[in-house]
Amino acid sequence: MKIIGLLGGMSWESTVTYYRIINEYVQKQLGGVHSAKMVITSGDFAELAAMQERGDWDQAAAWLTEQAQALKAAGADFMIIGANTMHKVAPQLQAAVDLPLLHIADATIAELQKANITRVGLLGTKYTLTQAFYKDRIAAAGINVLLPDAAGIETVNKIIYDELCAGKILPASKQILLKEITKMQAQGAQGIILGCTELDLQVKPEDTQLPVFDTTEIHALAAAARALAD
Ligand code: GLU
Repeated sequence: MKIIGLLGGMSWESTVTYYRIINEYVQKQLGGVHSAKMVITSGDFAELAAMQERGDWDQAAAWLTEQAQALKAAGADFMIIGANTMHKVAPQLQAAVDLPLLHIADATIAELQKANITRVGLLGTKYTLTQAFYKDRIAAAGINVLLPDAAGIETVNKIIYDELCAGKILPASKQILLKEITKMQAQGAQGIILGCTELDLQVKPEDTQLPVFDTTEIHALAAAARALAD
């Protein structure tokens, strides 16, 4: 079994989900009391959120690179960034650390393609929704990406940072997220990407008629399968 290196703590609520899904998969595949071989880093998310907010992506890249180096030193065979947003600095990370990266958008694209989705709604942080690094990667795979409007992007972003990353799951916010999904459905979305690793805490597949592509689950399962692959 390969050792998964998880860059976690972005936020810790979603790292818990990654840890559970990866271990459940390995236990199901191997049986008995088998569990995943993992190394996890978990920094102080407040430090990172402040760098993101002031647009200091060089410092954010350095913050993550230091952790990736720790994963490498601890024996990880490959790494995953347990967040969508921080894939913005994936190129810097890959240049600085000699560990293969399993990219969250690539794992998600593979699932979208399996489901023949060509037009998809995307929810995530304002960085993921407004900057090129994520949605352009999906578009480059021939998949049309729909977004909330400017006010919707701000609202979803606030729900992520002020509530979900702070451990608050408010029923009213779930309704707001579902409304954004309904709007994108009306624009022809065939599915919805939960493009933030905390959104699954609010939006469940049964909450909408559209197929839900939960990046946390997709990414965690892809990592677990890779750890067990020959
Ligand atoms: N976990 C989130 C994501 O998937 C947001 C937190 C972060 O900025 O890393 O984008």
